[in-house]
Amino acid sequence: MNFLTDEQRAWHETVDRFMDKEVTREYIRQHDMDREYPYEAYERIAKEGWLRLLIPEDHGGFGGDIFDYAIMCEGLGKYGFDFATSVLVPTFTGMNIVKFGTDAQKDAYLERFMSGQIRFSISISEPMAGSDAASTRTRAQIDGDDYVIKGQKLWCSGAAARDVVIAMLVRTDPEVAKHKGLSVLLVPNDTEGLAIRKLPTLARRSTGTTEIFVDDARVPAANRLGAEGQGWEIITDHLELERIAVAAAYVGNAQTAVSDALQYAHEREQFDRPIFDFQVLRHMLADMQTQVDAARLLVYRAAEMAAKHEPCAKEVAMAKLFASETLQTVSRNGMQILGGHSMLPEADMERYFREGMQCTIGGGTSQVQRTIIAQGMRLKK
Ligand SMILES: Cc1cc2nc3c(=O)[nH]c(=O)nc-3n(C[C@H](O)[C@H](O)[C@H](O)COP(=O)(O)OP(=O)(O)OC[C@H]3O[C@@H](n4cnc5c(N)ncnc54)[C@H](O)[C@@H]3O)c2cc1C
Repeated sequence: MNFLTDEQRAWHETVDRFMDKEVTREYIRQHDMDREYPYEAYERIAKEGWLRLLIPEDHGGFGGDIFDYAIMCEGLGKYGFDFATSVLVPTFTGMNIVKFGTDAQKDAYLERFMSGQIRFSISISEPMAGSDAASTRTRAQIDGDDYVIKGQKLWCSGAAARDVVIAMLVRTDPEVAKHKGLSVLLVPNDTEGLAIRKLPTLARRSTGTTEIFVDDARVPAANRLGAEGQGWEIITDHLELERIAVAAAYVGNAQTAVSDALQYAHEREQFDRPIFDFQVLRHMLADMQTQVDAARLLVYRAAEMAAKHEPCAKEVAMAKLFASETLQTVSRNGMQILGGHSMLPEADMERYFREGMQCTIGGGTSQVQRTIIAQGMRLKK
């Protein structure tokens, strides 16, 4: 188990300082209230070079490992998971392109992504394909040198922002078994035939999540990532990275929820004393910090195993499950500790609470994570 080297600790502090000085909690709060995409902060992060972190050096990246990446995700989640997700998600497709892309696709997309000129969204879900994501119905058919796409995608986060290329899971062959007939197409979000609508969701207000109506949208066949029928393999290839990244960001957000509640408990006085003096609240805070520390350790364990390329599906699912449920629990308890004040946006807690409600659903629900954990607990025959 890795308890952070001096370099990792310094990296943690760098991201933390950046969030306080360059991004700020007020910026993130305002963008949530206005339901505005955080373009300025995204550009600053691109300028820092942090979108290069995981991309291999021979593709112009820094070639960092997933543990360093998880530390960054924890920092970026400090003032809300929604903000972190705007920065994290594009990297998952970037890594898909590194592994499955042609030389022409790498040339076309990777440098532009790393420098912040384009970003990626991932569109797997549909109205009838949620946890059972391979039930994808959106159909893509070859017509000359193009694919023509028709169908409906749902919950595609970040797709309504500018300069987005959507990695879209589509059915290219309806005749074979359901996981086998899928492909991934890279679809610019200004392609004719796409109607993208940002949804008025409880959480994810700034990055935004969308529904996409696809009516005979046409993209070159050269925009297919990997081989036809390889879609399921590609889209699940980044699940380990995605779940470690989001779990780390939940931990960052959960830590702030606890720290904010603790500070409020020291400052707020009732019955002529700080409410922290009431043992019932002290014990709540003690439980909250214990949960966050446990979640962080699970995330670091999963990230360390992934960095060493050890099999870790179970450990990653444990980290995702526990960190998401921790953010939900500590933000709910934070609401209780802040009392009426918690209901106001400037207290931030109601935003953490909303984020917590979505994070046990997005990226694979808690029920799905438990199923994966249980699969890893089968006795070996
Ligand atoms: C804010 C937000 C952002 C999102 N962003 C994206 C995105 O960028 N790209 C994208 O493709 N998708 C995205 N999603 C979709 C997300 O991945 C799905 O919501 C998630 O996979 C669950 O699917 P569902 O909502 O259809 O729920 P369902 O699958 O219908 O599940 C409903 C309930 O049934 C349970 N359930 C389902 N199957 C099982 C089972 N086998 N065993 C036990 N319980 C089960 C679930 O756990 C849940 O409690 C986003 C969702 C949200 C809310």
